Amino acid sequence: MGQRLYFDNYTAVGDIVVLAICFVIGILVATSYNTKTKTFKLFLNMVLYLGLAALSDMVLHDFYAHITDGNYTPVYVIRVIYHAMLFSLFLIYVVYLVVILNLERREVIPVMSVATGIYGIVIISDIIMTVTGKGFKINDEGAAVYGINVFMIGYIAFVTMIVFLILKYRDRVYQKSVIGLFGTMAISFFILYNQGRHGQASFTVATFLFPVLAIMYLLHSNPYNVETGTVNASAFKDAIRYNLEKKIEFFFISMYLPDFHAEAKELPAELKAEIRRFPSAFFRKSVLFEISNGHLFLMVPKKGNPKCEEGLKKIVEAFNADYEKYRFDYKLVMGKSIEEISRRNEYLSLVRNIMRHMHMNSLHEITDEDVKAFDRSEDILVQLEDIYKKGNLDDERVLVYCQPVLNIKTGKYDTAEALMRLRLPELGMIFPDQFIPLAEDMGFIHALTRIITYKTCEAAQSLLAEGYEVKRISVNVSMSDLRDEDFARELSEIIENSSIPNGKIAIEITESQTESDFNSLKSMIEQLKDTGIRFYLDDFGTGYSNMERIMNLPFDIIKFDRSLVIASQSDKRSEEIVGKLAGMFAELHYSVLYEGIEDEADEKRCINMYASYLQGYKYSKPIPIEELRNFFSKSA
Ligand code: C2E
Ligand code: CA
Ligand code: CA
Repeated sequence: MGQRLYFDNYTAVGDIVVLAICFVIGILVATSYNTKTKTFKLFLNMVLYLGLAALSDMVLHDFYAHITDGNYTPVYVIRVIYHAMLFSLFLIYVVYLVVILNLERREVIPVMSVATGIYGIVIISDIIMTVTGKGFKINDEGAAVYGINVFMIGYIAFVTMIVFLILKYRDRVYQKSVIGLFGTMAISFFILYNQGRHGQASFTVATFLFPVLAIMYLLHSNPYNVETGTVNASAFKDAIRYNLEKKIEFFFISMYLPDFHAEAKELPAELKAEIRRFPSAFFRKSVLFEISNGHLFLMVPKKGNPKCEEGLKKIVEAFNADYEKYRFDYKLVMGKSIEEISRRNEYLSLVRNIMRHMHMNSLHEITDEDVKAFDRSEDILVQLEDIYKKGNLDDERVLVYCQPVLNIKTGKYDTAEALMRLRLPELGMIFPDQFIPLAEDMGFIHALTRIITYKTCEAAQSLLAEGYEVKRISVNVSMSDLRDEDFARELSEIIENSSIPNGKIAIEITESQTESDFNSLKSMIEQLKDTGIRFYLDDFGTGYSNMERIMNLPFDIIKFDRSLVIASQSDKRSEEIVGKLAGMFAELHYSVLYEGIEDEADEKRCINMYASYLQGYKYSKPIPIEELRNFFSKSA
């Protein structure tokens, strides 16, 4: 019994190449940035077992060739080990698939039971077959004879299982990766087939190499961007972890360039090239990371760079010079490694928190205060998320303050602006500059807007019920609110449910910068206009005012920002310009409201500049909404 196979027909070339490639992969891994994720560690294990399999295959044949006394026990033992290495590789491959296919617990258990079952049965039967002589054996003439080929059975079982898994859960991985995995497996079969055709046994291990290479290229390729000379965000987090472990202190400069990859206004190539040269031009061993589009982070180890701070200054100078030349926008944040932030791996959030409050084309050096403010904003964020999750319109943490507005025509206070405050456990009273940009950025503003609208409606309704003359109370709405398509419907629902008469609630919005924002704004206004809601254009004079857009929207009141009130004070000419602007709006039947009236001089000037309404500290600071009773009058 037993057919003769190609055991003798072996040269070590196939295994040597596989072993060499395993070393090559090792070198590549050691010299590139890779996130040491669970899957990456599995991949490294595959490489290890692949190498061990190649090695044991070589040793096996070496023994076989050199045994002269007819005792082939070492060959049998090493052959079992060699098979165990290859099946371990299969098993790791299955575990790898389980992870990347994101199988749920109830799916993992049967898959892993089957895989470990096959693994155990195959290895044990391989041993039994060898011991009992029913499997592979070497006969009296020293020739290898195969009996029952346990290895082939195991091989087919595992391949079937892997193909089944990939096919069944193919929707859970990126489609092209699935094609890549199958493509390389097909090549493995092609080799296996040809090896058989040529009566060869040298390339069995090599057939395991291709799927491993596919995994490396498709799923763990080096995050280096050739075009920009940068390394990506996951590598960044790894680098921070590494530096912390090895106690490597570093300086950094974080650069935000909104046009770095923008389609409409791409940075000039020479500028990109200049940025690419930063790491090597001024420092040793520094790395440039590209965190996201247009956000770069240059990390410079302190050691070996005694003149680091000078280098960073040169970069800032380069940015200034380039800004003069090309007029692209930037924000720069500079700092040193901070142990606490490294431990939490939170440099990106820290920088983002600082940039949120920075003007374009400016530089900021991180101070202890910034770190404190960041920690505080992290605490605020936890609360914001909780407010958002609870979705309680009557949430106690959200307070409505109001600033009464003087109506010039009647000389009375009959409108007001609602301004939000938060009162948070342990943190106390929080003002808008500390939570509005944060809430906008992190997607929680919508929840807050709903709450303040609801609370304003309730409070205004009480005032009306008590007989106060409330003409209108305006609520601030953010641009990020408008990007939500359900926003208009939700808001009108809240207003309608409160049974407040039509038109008592108004909405303040600032000018939109982009075309798409303008379109969202327009669509919201159109949806809400019929419900009697009025619209205020907030902060006029602070942005790039686009008259055409303003005229295209049905605003009722234009709020001139305090900066215009201040400007009009500087000289006659400025006063004339602001006055003319206001006059033009008045002529077009808009009402003009001046914000930030602080003294009598402001008041007088603004009344002369077509003011319909005045608002500012001269009349009142923002007060709890109940206290409007001290300003509004009761109808007779
Ligand atoms: P804003 O809408 O321009 O609000 C006017 C800000 O100017 C208020 O600051 C107010 O306290 C302040 N102010 C009033 N009178 C004077 C004055 O005479 N002189 C000076 N220098 N300032 C004066 P506040 O309450 O800190 O709000 C700041 C910003 O936060 C608001 O600017 C608004 O953009 C935002 N905000 C406030 N509440 C909300 C809200 O409920 N939702 C949204 N989306 N944003 C809000
Ligand atoms: Ca406002
Ligand atoms: Ca304003």
